[in-house]
Amino acid sequence: MLEGTSFDVAGVGGNVPLVSIVVPVFNEQDTIARFISEIEATIASAWDEAAGDKPPCFEIIFVDDGSRDDTSRVVREFCRTNPRIKLICLSRNFGKESALSAGMRVATGDAVIPMDVDLQDPPDLLRPMIDQWRAGAQVVNARRVDRSSDTAIKRSSARAFYKVINSLADHPIEPDVGDFRLLDRAAVNALNRLGEHNRFNKGLFSWIGFQSVTLEYTRPARSAGTSKWKASKLVGLALDGVISSTTLPLRIWTAIGASIACIAFIYAGYLIVNTLVWGADTPGYASLMVAILFLGGLNLVSLGLLGEYIGRIATQVRGRPLYIISDSVGF
Ligand code: UDP
Ligand code: MG
Repeated sequence: MLEGTSFDVAGVGGNVPLVSIVVPVFNEQDTIARFISEIEATIASAWDEAAGDKPPCFEIIFVDDGSRDDTSRVVREFCRTNPRIKLICLSRNFGKESALSAGMRVATGDAVIPMDVDLQDPPDLLRPMIDQWRAGAQVVNARRVDRSSDTAIKRSSARAFYKVINSLADHPIEPDVGDFRLLDRAAVNALNRLGEHNRFNKGLFSWIGFQSVTLEYTRPARSAGTSKWKASKLVGLALDGVISSTTLPLRIWTAIGASIACIAFIYAGYLIVNTLVWGADTPGYASLMVAILFLGGLNLVSLGLLGEYIGRIATQVRGRPLYIISDSVGF
């Protein structure tokens, strides 16, 4: 048994651990029923209670991220008949990262498992994850070994992203591990204490540390509905990831500026010697333009980069909450 957790293995002493499954949902009316029935089926079949193999208790917390369809109504219907199911509604669409944070804060389980509602995070993995947790792991990651259900563009951009972020970030993140993972109460408490606004959960998950193991799985296609991530949103998420994980991009400009200054200095020396020895040349309009445009471009890029950081500082300083809960059912 893991020291410091609040349960006994297999319910010895009558203490059954609680596992909270946190599910952010945004316009997902078509996927919810299927998700609930799959989870219920998995819980019923993965543990053989008759043989004394006791499952943990489960709660399923849906976080309605400002859906404009019938998502909230569908979940409310389930709440009435199934005591496991709980719902919090956010007052508008705050994005998956904030919705997940909201769910993690209201979850009371000894372990928390964030899951997508579209069954791309296979429920079959629940049992192995929980077994690893009961054996002592505080974080159980799930790594996609096969992303063939994603488009080629998404796969190659994901690969490029992990390469870039892992060469820059202070704390590398494991490639192809999504938000689907098991987090022990200690890890959840640590995450809940992090007050940052531009939340990039994958980065935060790796930053908190804790003893972790990684399971592997093949990511299936979406059960129904369409992906809620537009390319522009993914680019934004990637930028958030890099900027919240490292300040290296800011420092790069010092190096680039210094190198350009050195080159300019050497060039100036060459020009002076050249003028003294050969006399004044015809003025070089083209080379002058190139130098001006090049330096102007560099200036704008580095200003933009500063702006990205300063913008995030501004959001942080305003200190608004990450999300607003407008309603909750089942708590
Ligand atoms: N989601 C959310 N808020 C958003 C976008 C998505 O809560 O603004 C939820 C969505 O309902 C789903 C999960 O996040 O449960 C993953 O979304 P999706 O399947 O669209 O992402 P993908 O699997 O394509 O990365
Ligand atoms: Mg999905």
